[in-house]
Amino acid sequence: MGSQLTMYITLVCTSGVLNLYLCLYAFSKRHKYTNIANYFILYTAVISIYCFASAMTLISTTLEQISFWNTILYIGMPTSATLGLLYVMSYLGFKLTVRRSMLILLVPIITIIMVATNHWHHLHYRVFELDPNLGAPFVYQEIGMWYMVHGVYTFASMFVAFLLLISHWKETAKVYRPQLIALMFGQLVPIVTAFLYLNGFTPPGVDPVPMILWLSSLLYLWAISTSQLFRIMPIAKDKIYNSINDGAIVLDDSYRLIEFNQASKVMLPNLNKSMFGKNFVKFWNEQTGEALPFKLTADIEYVQEVRLCSEHAERVYQVRITSLEQARNSKGLLLVFTDITEIKRLQEKLEQQAYYDELTKIYNRRAFLQQSEQDFQKAKETGLPFTALLMDIDHFKRVNDTYGHHIGDQLLVHVVNACKTQLLESHFFARYGGEEFVIALKGFNEAEGEILANQLRTAVEQAPLMTEAGNLSVTLSIGVAEVVDWTEETLYQLLHKADTALYAAKEEGRNRVKVYAESESVLS
Ligand code: GH3
Ligand code: MG
Ligand code: MG
Repeated sequence: MGSQLTMYITLVCTSGVLNLYLCLYAFSKRHKYTNIANYFILYTAVISIYCFASAMTLISTTLEQISFWNTILYIGMPTSATLGLLYVMSYLGFKLTVRRSMLILLVPIITIIMVATNHWHHLHYRVFELDPNLGAPFVYQEIGMWYMVHGVYTFASMFVAFLLLISHWKETAKVYRPQLIALMFGQLVPIVTAFLYLNGFTPPGVDPVPMILWLSSLLYLWAISTSQLFRIMPIAKDKIYNSINDGAIVLDDSYRLIEFNQASKVMLPNLNKSMFGKNFVKFWNEQTGEALPFKLTADIEYVQEVRLCSEHAERVYQVRITSLEQARNSKGLLLVFTDITEIKRLQEKLEQQAYYDELTKIYNRRAFLQQSEQDFQKAKETGLPFTALLMDIDHFKRVNDTYGHHIGDQLLVHVVNACKTQLLESHFFARYGGEEFVIALKGFNEAEGEILANQLRTAVEQAPLMTEAGNLSVTLSIGVAEVVDWTEETLYQLLHKADTALYAAKEEGRNRVKVYAESESVLS
């Protein structure tokens, strides 16, 4: 028995020394590590207490000594399981507040008190005495009610830590898997040993768990040396993942939600961890009331724009979908949502400024020349007629001079609106400059153009602008020209003909429509 006891003590002390080494190592390097190391320091510290106190019980010779060291042992044992869980949780990126950590540590703390005061209430051990056959340091014990609570909680802590690690296996990059393996087996070793002990598969009267904990310690040492546990950790990636402004969502190959970052909650506020495993298409539908506005395909990377309503305002997102090669035959998807609302707004504003007239909101000269050139070429290919109207407000200068520039502006808008009542979508209406306007008429000959021009002229003449200074009537002079010779004429020459006709209308007294006549001018 003596040599067996020596072996037990040696094993327990080995575990204690290794854990103490790990604890001091992590402590000395704590400034270089993230705060996960703090949980590890506490975790290894309490395991050391557990092991050394266990060694002390094994060299005790009286029940009093055993009871004392058993109480010290309990400072380390139940807390080590819970701190192990807290350590694993922080490693996996769970947010652990002090309050939450203390709540999880509540049962172990009660256990320590229960063991220290057991001789008063016997709730932890109903019986705790020297083993009548083996004698000190072996004890005969009958467990009490609180022992059950403590046992279940301790097992559950280790088991939950183990399950959490397993559940992160798939999403953990290969380089970090040694860490995960070390942590998983680090949890599994005491679970299995304690299970065997409680079921009577290990020698009676001694707790074999601290004798085997050196194995877990070696695994942690291996993880530190091979994959730099603490230093380059998945948590660092988590931090980056959560700190980027783009919403990032990870789906598995069946489009089930696996991960999302903080920013994605701005677009989809109801995203929470309980949605994990839920079909994303269905989730989107429930959240937005609409079908998913983009395709989910793992074949190619592609980008699409999506409009989403969030907190009263509509926002525009660019969705970038990338295939993630997770494992063989298993392709996940990464969806990155970039908020481009401001860029879009700016782009629309620039487009507006580039192609629309700020005052009258109709197309400007640049837009007219670009679009009409295309229409002109199409008409040339198809041989359809093409007519241009050029119109100018008569004596507009007088309006400015008499009523001011401000009323002049109002009148320009008013004339445009009056013209619009006579025009169709297909009539390309633009401000040509100053108080001159142009209309390109696809499929119109000059006679049809003349009719429309007269309608415009009449509409403007008969719709005076009501101002504070009274009703203000203006008239239009309009020049009409049709393409005659498709082989020779350009858009520029057509506009020149219309301008010549307009000049003729002015010459003849204004408020009239003139169709270009070949005799009036020589094409330049
Ligand atoms: P006509 O019958 O010969 O066309 O006489 P008009 O006075 O209209 O002739 P002209 O082309 O010389 O004058 C055009 C005026 O239009 C000159 C300019 O001050 C005014 N104008 C041009 N753009 C604007 C504008 O955006 N707002 C205002 N209020 N006036 C403008
Ligand atoms: Mg004018
Ligand atoms: Mg003019």
